[in-house]
Amino acid sequence: MEKKFKPGTLCVQAGWQPKKGEPRVLPIYQSTTFKYETSEQMAKLFDLEESGYFYTRLQDPTNDLVASKITELEGGAAGMLTASGQAASFYAIFNICSAGDHIVSAAAIYGGTYNLLAVTLKKLGIETTFIDQDASDEEISEAFRPNTKALFGETIGNPGLAVLDIERFAKIAHKHGVPLIVDNTFATPINCRPFEWGADIVTHSTTKYMDGHATNVGGAIIDSGNFDWDKYADKFPGLTEPDPSYHGLTYTKSFGKGAYITKATAQLMRDLGAIQAPHNAFLLNMGLETLHLRMPRHCENAQKVAEYLQSHPKVSWVKYPGLKEDKYYELGRKYLPDGSCGVLSFGLKGGRDESIDFMDRLKLAAIVTHVADARTSVLHPASYTHRQLSDEQLIEAGVAPDLIRLSVGIEDVEDIIADLNQALEI
Ligand SMILES: *Cc1c(COP(=O)(O)O)cnc(C)c1O
Repeated sequence: MEKKFKPGTLCVQAGWQPKKGEPRVLPIYQSTTFKYETSEQMAKLFDLEESGYFYTRLQDPTNDLVASKITELEGGAAGMLTASGQAASFYAIFNICSAGDHIVSAAAIYGGTYNLLAVTLKKLGIETTFIDQDASDEEISEAFRPNTKALFGETIGNPGLAVLDIERFAKIAHKHGVPLIVDNTFATPINCRPFEWGADIVTHSTTKYMDGHATNVGGAIIDSGNFDWDKYADKFPGLTEPDPSYHGLTYTKSFGKGAYITKATAQLMRDLGAIQAPHNAFLLNMGLETLHLRMPRHCENAQKVAEYLQSHPKVSWVKYPGLKEDKYYELGRKYLPDGSCGVLSFGLKGGRDESIDFMDRLKLAAIVTHVADARTSVLHPASYTHRQLSDEQLIEAGVAPDLIRLSVGIEDVEDIIADLNQALEI
């Protein structure tokens, strides 16, 4: 949108801008392909000489319109949707790394991302050093090597709920000539816009709050356009040197602030194909239309639930950045002044077994492998999402073996607390 609107307006109206006689609501371009009149027109698209749609594995207008809404919300320069959050993390990294390269990442991140970095990317020859995000600048700097290509962290770690000191991380990354990639899934751009603190690239699992209704898996990558790839040209030859698969075109020269996303679309989507279905993008857009209404309610409910749990004698610990006693309260006030997210974690005095029994007694909150949707849900990460990790890795990833992850929904908070209460009182 041309004028600089506030986030609430962008949630509702950014992206699709209908002209005279066009549908008011974002259309679903349910088509694998797009028509041209001459072979020359088509050839220009294939050479990236002109922009336009030709095959939905690379780009689809519905997806691009939703990506542009998220890009505006984040205050970025260019963005794209992916089939899942995992695909977004993979593409965001693989777009600037190849075999022999290295990543520095916060350890307290989503289990799937940890696995992607520690196991799958390692198989492709990309190594990751995991660091404690609360370590000193010097300690974190020691993890960097000449072949390091990015620093990675989550605004709010899932499920450990550590708040990332984005400004400090951006400074460390830039000192080493690499971009900071931030997974902003839990905060969403309603509560934090990492680019304002110096992050260069933002990723999302749109499966969570953005969709918000647990209807579709998806991801997004947004580029701030601020990282100067040409300044570190030898580190990022994929962006700064001619691409043989596009007749020697150089992304930074041809696309400027759009270089990173154009490369990810033109190479990674073309060759790996983790595109979001246009129908899913349509559903995601519906979720985005109320994101600014849902996030404050998630945060308000989670704050009350966190305070309730904290005061309960059977609860041994609660982590939520909104609690004054929380280790991340101060960082939360800086980066998430309007609230963090609806997810909190806690443990029971009875330990791991008691946590599992408690969860089985819940009636309103459902046991599901999901977080961040309208319905309150619980999960025991050590038993499911993080079960591939050893106890040592669990603790490194900020997941205590007794940790219960509670995703507080937008129901009436009195009913949520009553449900927790009956399950605790037995
Ligand atoms: C869920 C999640 C992912 C992975 O997203 P999918 O859409 O499930 O592939 C990545 N990062 C964070 C922080 C998540 O919560």
